[in-house]
Amino acid sequence: MRIVLLGAPGAGKGTQCKRIVEKYGVQHLSSGDILRKERAAETELGAKAQSYMDSGGLVPDELIVKMMAGAISKAPQEGYVLDGFPRTVNQAEQLDKSLVSNGQKIDAVVDLKVNEKIIMGRMTGRRSCPKCGAVYHLENLKPKVDGKCDRDGTELVQRPDDKPEVVKKRLDTYYEQTEPVIGYYKRNGSVLELDATNSADKVSAKLFEKLEALAGR
Ligand code: AMP
Repeated sequence: MRIVLLGAPGAGKGTQCKRIVEKYGVQHLSSGDILRKERAAETELGAKAQSYMDSGGLVPDELIVKMMAGAISKAPQEGYVLDGFPRTVNQAEQLDKSLVSNGQKIDAVVDLKVNEKIIMGRMTGRRSCPKCGAVYHLENLKPKVDGKCDRDGTELVQRPDDKPEVVKKRLDTYYEQTEPVIGYYKRNGSVLELDATNSADKVSAKLFEKLEALAGR
């Protein structure tokens, strides 16, 4: 199964992707995670992406499309769930072109809908482990020991791009450049829309219901 998961930053894409991976055995391909790994490994791509990421803007399409085409080509037969990609209409078009040339197609496009106030709370309260990438929240998902990762005890940090002023910029970027991607997919097929203001459990229950209905069609 090949899924594209859309939604504003903070809509809960990462959480839902983990659940999709557990249920369907597909690979989670998060463009943001791949970029953060490139930065941690101090690669040329990581260095190029840094300033765009820290300011809340988008990394140029040509870098991202190449990076994601590489990741997709290595994905297992079970498929993948794309998280954070495509983020512009141009990226969506490039993705479609490369899928056509590989004889593949996307089975489901899912859009997680959530309002701005909830997004701000979710993102500015988010803390993550710089070592293993585990994600926590000051109110909704507290670590066992304040400020420390449950898995390896590393001091938790706030991602530079989760600071309020950058979150605002990331949202502006989302509305300007990424929201049109939903229209692109609607014009070319259908989009499964989900109310992501609900709890993660409710959202995934509904999501699985919709995916099963689609597979049974
Ligand atoms: P995320 O973890 O998905 O919110 O991504 C973090 C940051 O990485 C974004 O704010 C962008 O700067 C960059 N990024 C991730 N995915 C993309 C993409 N598909 N296109 C351009 N920039 C991206």
